[in-house]
Amino acid sequence: MNYKSPRGTHDVFGKTVLWLNLLEQKAKEIFIRHGFEEVRTPIFEEATLFTRSIGQTTDIVEKEMYIFEDRKKRKLALRPEGTASLARAFIEHRMDTLSPACKFFYLGEMFRYERPQAGRYRQFRQIGAEIYANSSPAADAEIIILAQEILFSLGIDKINIHINSLGCEKCRPLFRETLIKYFSFVKNLCKDCLRRLKKNPLRLFDCKVDSCKFTGVPEMLGYLCCDCKDNFYIVQLLLKKANCNFTVNGKLVRGLDYYTKTVFEVRSDAVGPQDTLVAGGRYDNLVKEIGGQNTPAVGFAIGVERALFAAQSVGFFDNLKNPEKFFLAITDQELFSEAFAFAVKATRYGINGNKDISVFGPINGKSLTNQLKFADKIQVSKTIIFAKAEFENGEVLIKNMKDKTQSKVELNKL
Ligand SMILES: [Zn+2]
Ligand SMILES: [Zn+2]
Repeated sequence: MNYKSPRGTHDVFGKTVLWLNLLEQKAKEIFIRHGFEEVRTPIFEEATLFTRSIGQTTDIVEKEMYIFEDRKKRKLALRPEGTASLARAFIEHRMDTLSPACKFFYLGEMFRYERPQAGRYRQFRQIGAEIYANSSPAADAEIIILAQEILFSLGIDKINIHINSLGCEKCRPLFRETLIKYFSFVKNLCKDCLRRLKKNPLRLFDCKVDSCKFTGVPEMLGYLCCDCKDNFYIVQLLLKKANCNFTVNGKLVRGLDYYTKTVFEVRSDAVGPQDTLVAGGRYDNLVKEIGGQNTPAVGFAIGVERALFAAQSVGFFDNLKNPEKFFLAITDQELFSEAFAFAVKATRYGINGNKDISVFGPINGKSLTNQLKFADKIQVSKTIIFAKAEFENGEVLIKNMKDKTQSKVELNKL
């Protein structure tokens, strides 16, 4: 039987796993500088958490969720995104009392049953940030700048930030009606669009089949109430003040139901033509929708696989410093335990005070020639040879594997 990783999943190993770690570490450093705290939520939740928050008529809920029953017939779902889980945890643990700044971040695997294609997986990773209990447009601006900063820290500086406002419960209904009217005149809408037209006309913007037919579509920006207009103006003002370049894009609509007011996407040519690396926005009704107090919130999620690819294509990982590799060889079997003890010491305290090292060996029962061949194979830079005559004088030989030069060093000076 030949097993393969399930369709739409992939193993991460070799260089890629180092890059992934570096990417996550960069993001964590920036989150901490901005006062965000990490939250790790379970991989699965009650399925209704997602249907209620993300919205019944979204692609995620209609087609892409991994739903299963456990042995007690509980209906569970692998998390398709991080925002709903974090909001659930926020309510459950009264996190507003524990961390009054209410700034949180998460990173981890998400699951969506999508048609696998380049850069899109059924198990994928997202890094996300959320600010709760803060309705100020400054929070929106901070979230956008934070996303930009993480991409910059990965060398991804050719980005376009698109922002839009989707309005609030006061101003959106009129826009909705106008949209329904507009779409009713578009001929040959696909089945999905026809079904969604009455329930959620905003969703039609995302339709891959029909969106090319929509010309002169009304935009939410023309329907914003005074509140939403002021809000959107201040977001833009703060972004400009912080030298954060952006484009107002009236056609930008996020695929999830919970968004209100500011929405944004960060796109980059590094991945594909204008592919989205980050998506986010404000969702002031989400916490209340899933049973919490009325709590405004704003956040984003970064698609890790795409960000990784973008960072790689701009050469961010090209000059990555690897730890120096050492191999410990022995000329006589009786020196094995000495070399072994040195390996333990070296991995604990470093060699010459340098802890950024990888130590290999010693190996039992191989000739010195074969030990050195192995050292070459794993591409170490130096081999420390425990040789009998030298060891009796408290010395070892250090062989530079590149130029093949050799020198003697006192063992306890290493
Ligand atoms: Zn409004
Ligand atoms: Zn359609």
